[in-house]
Amino acid sequence: MNYDSLLKIAYQEALTGFEEGGVPVGAALFDADGNLLGRGRNRRVQDNDPSVHGETDAFRKAGRQTNYRDKILVTTLAPCWYCSGLIRQFNIGTVVVGESENFAGHLDWLREAGVTVVEMDDERCKALMRRFIAESPHIWFEDIGECRHG
Ligand SMILES: [Zn+2]
Repeated sequence: MNYDSLLKIAYQEALTGFEEGGVPVGAALFDADGNLLGRGRNRRVQDNDPSVHGETDAFRKAGRQTNYRDKILVTTLAPCWYCSGLIRQFNIGTVVVGESENFAGHLDWLREAGVTVVEMDDERCKALMRRFIAESPHIWFEDIGECRHG
C-alpha cells in the first residue's frame, strides 16, 4: 500500500481547513485496496462544532460499513482520545498518522488494542500544524481541551 498517496488526500483536507481559518487536521477512510470511502477535516471553527474532528468527519462521510478491521484511517495528526476511542470502538484495523510531533496522541493505546499504527513523520503535516499553533495558539489549546490562563 502506498500510504503516502493516501496521506496526500488527508493533507489536502488539512490545508483546506487551514485556508478556512480552522484547525488544520484532515483525515480520510479507505478500504483495504486503498479506495477512498470518506474524507473530512476538523470544522470546530467553521461549524462552531467541537465534535467535528478530521477523523470523525471522514468516518461519518464514509457512511455505514459492515466491517472496519480491514479499513485504513489516515489522519494528518496523531488522534486525540475522542478519535482514538472511535478507532477502538469500531475496530479500525490500520491507522496511518501523518505526524505525532506537534501532538503525541495515544498511539501505544491503539497498538495495545491490536491496531496497526503507521507513522509517516511527514514534513508537510508537521510544518502546517506548527504554523497553525504559532498563529492561533488559543484555538489550538481549545481544540485539545487544555486551558491556558494568562
Ligand atoms: Zn480527534
